[in-house]
Amino acid sequence: MSEHFSTIVIGAGSGGMTVAIGLARLGRKVALIEGHHVGGDCTNVGCVPSKTLIHLAKNFRPGMNPDEILQEVIRKRDALRDKETEEVQHLENLTFIHGMAKFTAPKKLSVTQDGTTRELTADNIVIATGARPRMIVSTMAFHGYLNCVIRSRVRIHKILCPFRICPVRIK
Ligand SMILES: Cc1cc2nc3c(=O)[nH]c(=O)nc-3n(C[C@H](O)[C@H](O)[C@H](O)COP(=O)(O)OP(=O)(O)OC[C@H]3O[C@@H](n4cnc5c(N)ncnc54)[C@H](O)[C@@H]3O)c2cc1C
Repeated sequence: MSEHFSTIVIGAGSGGMTVAIGLARLGRKVALIEGHHVGGDCTNVGCVPSKTLIHLAKNFRPGMNPDEILQEVIRKRDALRDKETEEVQHLENLTFIHGMAKFTAPKKLSVTQDGTTRELTADNIVIATGARPRMIVSTMAFHGYLNCVIRSRVRIHKILCPFRICPVRIK
């Protein structure tokens, strides 16, 4: 049997969390579905780790251990992620569901986690599933530097500490 909600939000990134928490606080019965980590790109691989890294790098001095800086970035990121996860799990009117959502009919979804599938329906469904990075193809501008390009979803602790970082946005 399916569970019914006023609104289902797919994706607990910055966008989805804002919508879901806002509606729940207004008294709507909301389900928030996340397939990976609460916080989406911003908390896990985007704004938070990149700005923490930049901030810590400014205070880097010879003799300091770069690995400790990366560990600090991960520690701060994990602390924020835990706080956000806790918030969505304990908010009144909000049901947090961990799993990948899939449309099975208009206004009907299935969410599978650990082999268990839940059927959900809603009056409104918000798709806040973010975007994926496009891989850089060889261009003159990047010729010779392609093996230095680090995608944001590479796990942070796998990054070897670079001397310089040049953020690039590709449309
Ligand atoms: C390196 C980097 C630095 C950045 N710095 C900044 C900054 O300083 N300031 C700023 O404003 N922005 C910054 N951004 C951009 C910011 O991270 C994004 O704009 C923001 O994360 C987009 O949020 P979103 O909710 O739209 O999508 P996302 O954060 O991508 O969230 C989408 C979520 O949906 C989930 N999902 C997808 N499909 C499904 C499914 N079928 N079922 C369940 N869940 C699903 C995903 O797992 C994900 O958690 C940065 C981005 C990067 C990569």
